[in-house]
Amino acid sequence: MTESLVLVLNCGSSSIKFAIIEPASGGELLQGIAERLFSSEAQLIVKHNGEKQLTAIPDADHKAAMNAIVEQIHQTGDLAGRIGAVGHRVVHGGERFRSSMLIDDEVVNVIASCNHLAPLHNPANISGIEIARAAFPELPHTAVFDTAFHQSMPEKAFVYPLPYELYIHHGVRRYGFHGTSFRYVASQAAAELNRPLDDCALIIAHLGNGASVSAVLNGQSLDTSMGMTPNEGVVHGTRCGSIDPSIHEYLAHRLDISIEQVNDLLWKQSGLLGISGISNDCRTIEDAADKDHKRAQLALEIYAYRLAKEIAALMVPLGRLDALVFTGGIGENSVRIRAEVIRQLGFLGLTLDEQRNAAAIRGVQGPITADGSRACALVIPTNEELMIAQDAAQFIAQ
Ligand code: AMP
Repeated sequence: MTESLVLVLNCGSSSIKFAIIEPASGGELLQGIAERLFSSEAQLIVKHNGEKQLTAIPDADHKAAMNAIVEQIHQTGDLAGRIGAVGHRVVHGGERFRSSMLIDDEVVNVIASCNHLAPLHNPANISGIEIARAAFPELPHTAVFDTAFHQSMPEKAFVYPLPYELYIHHGVRRYGFHGTSFRYVASQAAAELNRPLDDCALIIAHLGNGASVSAVLNGQSLDTSMGMTPNEGVVHGTRCGSIDPSIHEYLAHRLDISIEQVNDLLWKQSGLLGISGISNDCRTIEDAADKDHKRAQLALEIYAYRLAKEIAALMVPLGRLDALVFTGGIGENSVRIRAEVIRQLGFLGLTLDEQRNAAAIRGVQGPITADGSRACALVIPTNEELMIAQDAAQFIAQ
């Protein structure tokens, strides 16, 4: 019998990413994106058997885009008939979900009750779920939450030093994100270290456009750098990360702008983009820094310094370090950021191997520290889609 496939869906506010995956091997049989939804330039891109197909879907909303995706899948041989489950990425599961869930109406209602915590993401995730449930009513649908992995954090790690009632009545607490990536990378790191996951002390740095770091002991998140929203913690592409909360009021008064405008500044015009003044893209900034662009150099310096400080802080809950793991676009590719962070963390027993570091790019997995290094640093390419597919595969009827 051929193995059932999983359709993985990641429904964002203006795009739907999708892939058809073989959950055991991780093989991706088809992938694509419907992007720029709600605009005249909306388009569907599908990659299958090495071929890329582009279809204009002008002014498509989520429903029209999903219909176009389903139609494309039906046109690709027997793939549609082999799909045994659908896995949905959901950004916020609040405190209600500690693991992936088989979706029913009740689960959808609970996800909707978390909408206020992720107003840009959760409503889009829910429309993706509803449209896909209508398109594939006979299949099990699974919700995989970015926040679920961090529900193991103890209260001292997730409660803010604010009036406690704000947590109880308004959900103001630290949730953490990138959980699906941390979960995947932790198990890969354990395999790479040749240790059981339940005897592994890891710090994982997921460095993409949004970046977060997590202390993972024996497969469980003890603490993480993102908080109530995905802005707390280290420097991001366009988000500021942790700053003095009184800056909000200062800016509102000083610049005579609304709280929404302050938020826009802190979410969309800060981070690597804000410091460098040229881009949120680490590659562009590294190129400019090489040409002596001072603010690009400063952006990289602040990025690496704050990241190293965050990693050092996460040693408090972790207590010992088996491996520091880099993942995400920057973690998997920036030789420079990794070298600088490891240099600053030499006191943890990390000694960089420059050749290994230079070779660990574009999907290469492995250690980047020297053989005699007391602690190990690894590069592990993340694969959130595979994790979602494997979670969903558990619900396929045998
Ligand atoms: P992600 O959100 O995981 O796709 O990561 C996006 C980030 O990875 C962007 O800041 C890219 O500039 C960065 N990135 C990708 N390739 C490289 C590279 N070769 N060197 C430095 N940064 C890179």
